[in-house]
Amino acid sequence: VLQVRGLVKDYGERRVLDGVDVAVGEHEIVVLIGASGSGKSTLLRCVNLLEEIDDGQILLDGQDVSDPRVDPDLARRRMGVVFQSYNLFPHLSVLDNVTLAPRVVHGLGRAEAEERGRALLARVGLADRAGSYPDRLSGGQQQRVAIVRALAYEPRLLLLDEITSALDPELVGEVLALVRELAEQGTTILMATHEMGFARQVADRVCFLDGGVLVESGPPERVLVDPEHDRTWQFLRRVI
Ligand code: ATP
Ligand code: MG
Repeated sequence: VLQVRGLVKDYGERRVLDGVDVAVGEHEIVVLIGASGSGKSTLLRCVNLLEEIDDGQILLDGQDVSDPRVDPDLARRRMGVVFQSYNLFPHLSVLDNVTLAPRVVHGLGRAEAEERGRALLARVGLADRAGSYPDRLSGGQQQRVAIVRALAYEPRLLLLDEITSALDPELVGEVLALVRELAEQGTTILMATHEMGFARQVADRVCFLDGGVLVESGPPERVLVDPEHDRTWQFLRRVI
C-alpha cells in the first residue's frame, strides 16, 4: 500500500529524516518507535503530504504521490489521519464531525453520510453520543470518534501519531483496543507510539528511528526483544 523510499527532510540546516525507507503492505500494521525528536511525527506528516520533502519518494498504491504534479489534496483523501490531540471540531456534534469529510470532500448525500456515520459510531460503542459535542466526551471517547472519522471514507491507509499520549492512563486502553480491533479487521496502519507493550502485541513490523535514521526494523519479537543495534538496546532500556 505504502512505500517510502530514501525520504529526506530538512528543516533549514537541520536534517530530521535521513534516507528513510518504510513499507506498509496490505492489512499490515507498522509501528514507528524512537525517542522524542527522532522524526516519527515528521515521517507521518511527510507521508500525509503535509510537509515538502527534500529527497526520496512516497508511493501510495504504486503512485508517486510526492511528485509535484500530483494534487496533494486528492492523494490525502486516500489516507486517514489522527494526531495526539485536538482532532475534533469543537463546534460540531459528534455525528457532524464524522460526516463532514464524506459530505464536503467526497460529496456524499447527508442521509447516506449520516447512516454510515451512525454505523461507525455504533461500531465503537458511541451510537448514543452522536448528538453530543466533543467537550462532553472523555478524551478516550474523543479519540475513538477521531479514529472512526478518519475511517469514514475507507482510506487505504490509516496514519496514527501518538494518539494516546495526551490521555489519562485509564483511557489509553479503550483507544488501543479499538486500534487492535481495526488491525484484526485488516485496516492498514502506520502509527507512532510510545506504548511498547502495544507495539509488541499488534505490530507486524516495528521501525526504530534515531536522529532521523531508520536504525532497524523487523518483527516486534526481534526488534523489541533482541535488537541487532546498540542504539536500539539503549532506547529500549530507557523506555521499558
Ligand atoms: P515525539 O516523540 O516527541 O513526538 P518525534 O519523533 O515525533 O518526537 P518530530 O516531531 O518528528 O519527532 O521531530 C523531529 C525533529 O524535527 C526534531 O528535532 C524537531 O525539533 C524538528 N522539527 C519538527 N517540526 C519542525 C518544524 N516545523 N520546524 C523545525 N524543526 C522541526
Ligand atoms: Mg511526534
